[in-house]
Amino acid sequence: MAKSSYIEPAPIKDRENPFESMMSRFNEAANVIGLDNETYEVLKSPVKQVIVSLPVTMDNGKKRVFTGYRVIHSNILGPAKGGIRYAMDVTLDEVKALAAWMTWKCAVVDIPYGGGKGGVICDPRSMSVGELERLTRAYTAALVDVFGPDQDIPAPDIGTGPREMAWLMDEYSRAQGRTVSGVVTGKPIVLGGSLGRVEATGRGVMITAMSAMQKLKMNPLRSTCAVQGFGNVGSHAAILLEERGMRICAISDHTGAYYNERGIDIRAAIEYRTKNNGILEGFTGGDKIDNEALLELPVDVLVPAAVEDVITAKNAGNIKAKLIVEGANGPTSANADKILADNQIMVVPDILANAGGVTVSYFEWVQNRLGYKWSVERINRRADRIMTSAFDKAYHTAEQYKVSLRLAAYIVAIQKVAEAYRYRGGF
Ligand code: NAD
Repeated sequence: MAKSSYIEPAPIKDRENPFESMMSRFNEAANVIGLDNETYEVLKSPVKQVIVSLPVTMDNGKKRVFTGYRVIHSNILGPAKGGIRYAMDVTLDEVKALAAWMTWKCAVVDIPYGGGKGGVICDPRSMSVGELERLTRAYTAALVDVFGPDQDIPAPDIGTGPREMAWLMDEYSRAQGRTVSGVVTGKPIVLGGSLGRVEATGRGVMITAMSAMQKLKMNPLRSTCAVQGFGNVGSHAAILLEERGMRICAISDHTGAYYNERGIDIRAAIEYRTKNNGILEGFTGGDKIDNEALLELPVDVLVPAAVEDVITAKNAGNIKAKLIVEGANGPTSANADKILADNQIMVVPDILANAGGVTVSYFEWVQNRLGYKWSVERINRRADRIMTSAFDKAYHTAEQYKVSLRLAAYIVAIQKVAEAYRYRGGF
């Protein structure tokens, strides 16, 4: 491959916008492998960026126009795959970054998908179920030519869930005149959703954590862990790590963090959260501590599984864990990467650690196309195998290029997509 001229890393500020954050890692990996400029330009540029205006009748009878986005970053390895976010702060830049992340994530776990992402600027919590249904159907109708089981397969993300995916599947199917369940994943089980999908991301976090601990010669039975975020990813990761014998000393959600040196009873915490409107506030299984303090606790493993940009240049130097497993997308800023590397803290990066979710989404799509349902045992077995071999591949690549696991995961992904691009070719 022709050696590229040096690609300027994206400027690094303390709080990065997600596109810059993605690009700075992408550029670094492209430089390490000497990606030629032509392929660099192809892989950097999203294939398609669609902006739609969605007039929706609100409950008061008035029309309101929402703005929606769908970005297909790449369809080189297969149809685009990625969630739909409903939030007030959705921007095209963010959707572009998330779409690119999906390309790299799918390539890291070697599933035949490209990357996509969508978003609508709205506040789903202030909207009625009827308004959300009309909005989701309007968004689907506007993008009916973009979506498709062989083109672009959406999934839930922040602010959307199985209910929205069911509306999307129904609206798309109406337009086609037949049921097309494979157009979207994350559906309710009764509509073709997959067993094992709910816990899949947390399970992948556990599997990659175990692989990393083996490399670091850490014994789970003698290791402690702190988990930030107690939603889908955090709570499933916590319970599965606990089942593997680890002591989970701290958990948190947006209402606060709880620390218990002897270990938090994760089942009790889940039960408490379920009875307490989905939040941990008032939990008595540990001492209340500051949310930021959780990241700096003297534990062996840290699992950020809440939001982005929580480990930055400001606090990275205070982290005592030997291993960080990124359940969340983008929890570590590019500035913090170097500090963690200097302190010899291993980081299992987001595009690897949380790829268990998209892996089981892929299984959902496969099952829909087969018209068949797999058992949860088969799903877990296959997903575990994919996550373990993706970790091993990234680990060997890190050794080969003498780079961090994060950079190695990007290298694996970029090399795969670049190779496929060379075979497929362009105009
Ligand atoms: P979720 O909404 O179920 O849970 C998020 C949790 O984080 C909640 O407990 C919330 O209270 C907590 N939280 C929010 N802000 C916090 C803060 N400042 N400090 C501590 N806790 C805070 O979301 P989720 O599905 O678990 O997703 C979590 C992260 O994982 C996101 O970055 C998401 O993009 C990523 N992710 C999720 C999946 C998936 O399958 N759900 C897959 C890949 C990546």
